[in-house]
Amino acid sequence: MNDFTADVIVIGGGIAGTSIALRLAEKGQKVILLEKGRVGEEASGRNGGGVRQQDRRPEELPLAMAAIKFWEGMQDELGCDVGYRQGGNLMIARSEGQLESLIQIKDRELAMGLHVEMLSPEETLSITPSLAGNFEIFGSKYCPSDGTANPLLVVKAISRLARSIGVRIKEHEPVRKLMRSDEKVTAAITDNGAYRSPVFVLAAGPWARSLCNTIGFDLPITVRKSRLMVTEPLPHAVDQFVILDKLYYRQTLEGNIHIGGLSPHGAEDFDKSVLFKDFVEVFQWLPRNLPFFRNVNIIRAFAGLTQNTADTVAILDKAPGLENLFLAVGFSGHGFCLGPIVGKLIAEWIVDGRSSIDLSKLRLNRFNIAPP
Ligand SMILES: Cc1cc2nc3c(=O)[nH]c(=O)nc-3n(C[C@H](O)[C@H](O)[C@H](O)COP(=O)(O)OP(=O)(O)OC[C@H]3O[C@@H](n4cnc5c(N)ncnc54)[C@H](O)[C@@H]3O)c2cc1C
Repeated sequence: MNDFTADVIVIGGGIAGTSIALRLAEKGQKVILLEKGRVGEEASGRNGGGVRQQDRRPEELPLAMAAIKFWEGMQDELGCDVGYRQGGNLMIARSEGQLESLIQIKDRELAMGLHVEMLSPEETLSITPSLAGNFEIFGSKYCPSDGTANPLLVVKAISRLARSIGVRIKEHEPVRKLMRSDEKVTAAITDNGAYRSPVFVLAAGPWARSLCNTIGFDLPITVRKSRLMVTEPLPHAVDQFVILDKLYYRQTLEGNIHIGGLSPHGAEDFDKSVLFKDFVEVFQWLPRNLPFFRNVNIIRAFAGLTQNTADTVAILDKAPGLENLFLAVGFSGHGFCLGPIVGKLIAEWIVDGRSSIDLSKLRLNRFNIAPP
C-alpha cells in the first residue's frame, strides 16, 4: 500500500473519526485518517466536557449507556489521565412544570435501565452548594454515573493510541471532494492527490454536508454555534455537571468553571467568533442569581460548531445508494460522550458486517431524502 491507499479512509479527526480509526486498526485494518486542520481542533476538543447519558432521546440512550462502559476503562486504556471523573449530572427544576417533566423522563430512563433519581431541593443544595441563590429550586434529576472529561486531552490521547498501532493520521490535509462511480465512492481528493480505498468513513462533523454535496446528495444536518466561558481557577466547589435552564456548568480538575449555553445560534457561515452579545443574553442571569458566581474572573471564552439533525439524534448509517461510504455524523451537541462507542460500532459494521448494538433507529431513512 502506498501513501495514498488503505483498507479504510476516515475523514475527520474529531472524537468520532479518531475513535473509529482506532477500533478499525485494532481489527487489523490499515487506516488513513485525513484531517483538515489538527486533530481535536473543532467541537471534539472545545466542548463542555459532559459525558452524559441522562436526558437523551430513547434512540440514543442505549449507545450512551454502552459508551459509559468504555469511558470507565478509558484512562487505563489510553495510559493517561484525561480528566474523566464520574461526578454525576444534575438537571435542576425551577418550576413545578419542569419538575413534572423531569419525573416523566426519569420514569422512562429507569425503564430503559439507566439509574437516575429525583433529589429534593434540600438534597440538591447539599450536593451542590454553588446553587444556593435568589431563586427557588423545585428539585433535580440526578444521574450518578454521568461525568465529565477534558475534551482536548481525550481526543489527543485517542489519536496517539491510534497512531501507535499504525493509523496514518494526516493533519492539514483537507478533503476537497469525494469521487464516485455508480454505487461506490472511489477517492477522497486533497491538494496532494487522490486517496483511494475500498471503504470510506465520513466523520467530518458540520463539514460532512458539503462533502456529501460533491457526490450528489444532501445530508440533513445544520450547523450551530455553541459558546463557553471559563472562570479563573477556584477552590473546589462542584463535582457535578449542572444543567440549569439555558445554562450548564462544571468545574475542571484545575478549578476553572466552564459555563456553557444550551441554546446554540445558527451558524451556516461556520463562524466561530465569540461576540459579546451572544454572551450577555444567556450568561448575565448567573451572577445575578447565584452569589457564588458574582465576583469571579472570566479568563477565556470560545465557541465551537455543532452538527444538528432535526430530531437531535445522530446518523450512523451508509450513505444512500453508496455501499462503501459510512456516515458518523449529526451528533447534535451531545456527541462527545458517544464518540468511543461510535468507534466500536462503526468498526464492527465495517469489519464484521454488523454492529453489536442495533443502529436501525439512527438510520437516514427516518428523514425524507432522495438517494443520489
Ligand atoms: C461548545 C460546545 C459544547 C459541547 N458540549 C458537549 C458536552 O458537554 N457533551 C457532549 O457529549 N457533547 C458536547 N458537544 C458536542 C460534541 O462536541 C460533538 O457532538 C462531538 O465533538 C462531535 O464529534 P465529531 O468527531 O463528530 O465532530 P468534530 O469534532 O466537529 O470533528 C470533525 C472533524 O472533521 C474535520 N474535517 C471537517 N471537514 C474536513 C475535510 N473536508 N477534510 C478533512 N477533515 C475535515 C474537522 O476539522 C474536525 O476535526 C459540545 C459542542 C460544542 C461546540
